[in-house]
Amino acid sequence: QWIYLNGEFVEKKDAKVSVYDHGFLYGDGVFEGIRVYEGNVFRLQEHLDRLYNSAKSIMLSIPHTKEEMKKLVVKTLQKNHLSNAYIRLVISRGVGNLGLDPASCSTPQVIIIAEELALFPKELYESGLEIVTVATRRNRPDVLSPKVKSLNYLNNILVKIEASLAGVSEALMLNDQGYVAEGSADNVFIVKGKELLTPPGYVGALEGITRNAIIEFARDLGYAVKEEPFTRHDVYVADEVFLTGTAAEVIAVVKVDGRVIGEGKPGKETKCLLETFRNRVVLEGEK
Ligand code: PLP
Repeated sequence: QWIYLNGEFVEKKDAKVSVYDHGFLYGDGVFEGIRVYEGNVFRLQEHLDRLYNSAKSIMLSIPHTKEEMKKLVVKTLQKNHLSNAYIRLVISRGVGNLGLDPASCSTPQVIIIAEELALFPKELYESGLEIVTVATRRNRPDVLSPKVKSLNYLNNILVKIEASLAGVSEALMLNDQGYVAEGSADNVFIVKGKELLTPPGYVGALEGITRNAIIEFARDLGYAVKEEPFTRHDVYVADEVFLTGTAAEVIAVVKVDGRVIGEGKPGKETKCLLETFRNRVVLEGEK
């Protein structure tokens, strides 16, 4: 496996960065997780827009144009002979001294990892997930915007830890006002009849590329989709609940905090949306 590291391809075992990199010392950097279907990088432009916006927000200047970055992503896939893959793009502030000030870091590090997909087991899509809500809160949009996909993922990691302490694999985070924000690294939707609801960005969710694709595909199918705040109660009494994300795609949730959702198995709208999603991501590549 070849890793793109600051201008060259190195073997995985040699792909190392300094302990003085501020990405390592302080989580100072940004990243993206991207999916490749049948050789087509799914919505690469949107991922790069989000990456560059995240970088701009934290005043990190990426040493490549988006066009150059696109080429580097494709080159990394070719180098690894991958057509169905998961890509991790990481830009860290770079090597500096032990002080916090990014001024000591001269050059950002650019890393692209392309891997075979580690898919969730098929059974999970058939049984659906049991999840909980946790005490960890999403950071406030007026502090560090949740729209910034930064290397500082402690909130999200705490969500994972709380989930596993509760004996489940995923959990929902609320914002500081108690509205449902998102999962540890996925967005949430609730279904009521033919209506879908997902929290708006201002509640404190990352505007997921998968989330946005689902909104678009669902509208094409005739669903009404609203971006509106909702509470845990609304989740408990929804007909269906599902999560979306680059790795998970669309996955049903069948129990939340011990409350059975709908009939306790993946519902028909969730199944329909997953099927549509899987068909359309391949179709996009054929265009
Ligand atoms: N929310 C967070 C905090 C994430 O890290 C991710 C993953 O990227 C998502 C939501 C889902 O976004 P996407 O569909 O772009 O993968």
